[in-house]
Amino acid sequence: MKLHGTKNLTRDHINKLITKKLNFLYFSKPIENIYRKQYRSAAAFEFRYRAPLVLILYAFLTWGVYQNISDLYLKNLWLSLYKWVGIIIFSAWLCSFKKSWSKYFDIYMGIGALSAVSITFVIINLLTTTYNTALLHAAMMYAVVIIYAFIGLRFYTAIISGWIGGLVGVFFSNYYNLYIDWTYLIHTYIFSSFLGMSLCYVIDRQHRENYLQNCIIETTQKEISDQAQLLEELSLLDPLTGLANRRYLNRILEAEWTLAIKQQEPISIIMLDIDYFKNYNDNLGHISGDNCLQSIAVALKSITNNHSEIAARYGGEEFLLVFPQTSTEKAAEIASLILHNIKNLEIKHPDSPICTNITVSLGVVTTIPNPDDLLRDFIEEADKKLYEAKNLGRNRYQIESLNRIVI
Ligand code: GH3
Ligand code: MG
Ligand code: MG
Repeated sequence: MKLHGTKNLTRDHINKLITKKLNFLYFSKPIENIYRKQYRSAAAFEFRYRAPLVLILYAFLTWGVYQNISDLYLKNLWLSLYKWVGIIIFSAWLCSFKKSWSKYFDIYMGIGALSAVSITFVIINLLTTTYNTALLHAAMMYAVVIIYAFIGLRFYTAIISGWIGGLVGVFFSNYYNLYIDWTYLIHTYIFSSFLGMSLCYVIDRQHRENYLQNCIIETTQKEISDQAQLLEELSLLDPLTGLANRRYLNRILEAEWTLAIKQQEPISIIMLDIDYFKNYNDNLGHISGDNCLQSIAVALKSITNNHSEIAARYGGEEFLLVFPQTSTEKAAEIASLILHNIKNLEIKHPDSPICTNITVSLGVVTTIPNPDDLLRDFIEEADKKLYEAKNLGRNRYQIESLNRIVI
């Protein structure tokens, strides 16, 4: 039986369950419910393939007993009554194909099993008066063994069905004043019930063990995939600012560059460098410098507004922002907004010759790239514009459109 483990269990929890709870064939409440739900649907699924075998055995038994009875009336009586067991198996088989009914598997299978045992019980007692052979009792052993070992009922459900089925059989036999041959029944019904219960216990326990092992596999897989995801994230993010690092930037930039070539759409990048940052560090210390970088990173991140736009830490105090499908005008607007937002951060810079607060300079460049254009040249152009901005006095942006077409 294929049971998927649940990911909700911790390793400790599973270990406790393995050592303690298996003997009683019961997990604690929430897990037992999850387990049963899975078990029912797996058992219903398996019954689809087991039922034909159960039916073939049933057909052999019916035919064997039928052949063995000499009296025609009794032959027909046997068939007319025992056919109900066949109908029960067949109905349960049909039910097992209805996926949404698998939650009722215990119920329909339990009731079916109980009825099959009680019907068999009554038939045996009915025929025993005139026809008493071991073959007839084979029908009882068949019912019991099938219930415990073949139809996928859990241990406790199987016990309830098997024994209550017997009790119902005794009740109806007494009700119809039938003779109950306990000597035979002890050998067949009672003995095979105990044998079946042992089998069923071992099977149920085995299923639970498998389930817990699958839980361990699922938990391990989840841990591994979580760690892989974390590593992937860490390998793409700059640890200080939380922005994309150079590696992630390159990946995105190359993809967007290729797309821009393919779709012949403008792409803009902005290279940003903090003004007089060395002075800032020298004056306020490296920790304040780090804090300043983090605040600027937050401001830059808030400017990028969708999945393909990206703000990355390019170097020490240099950042690069990528804006796909962005025209020169739009890029200029974004650059102004960046200058404005950084100024609004009001990070005091006591040693800046140009302003009392931290300022930045930007190199902005837009292009609709051709297939022979190089991304490296495009970035270099942004760098050039940045240094133009620096040379022109800082706290400003310099922009360049590499195409005549401005969209
Ligand atoms: P300019 O206006 O010409 O850009 O002057 P600048 O002083 O900002 O330029 P420069 O490139 O000479 O100095 C960059 C400084 O950035 C050097 C270093 O102290 C600082 N820096 C680089 N990375 C970090 C970092 O991770 N943390 C801190 N606190 N400072 C950094
Ligand atoms: Mg620099
Ligand atoms: Mg600088």
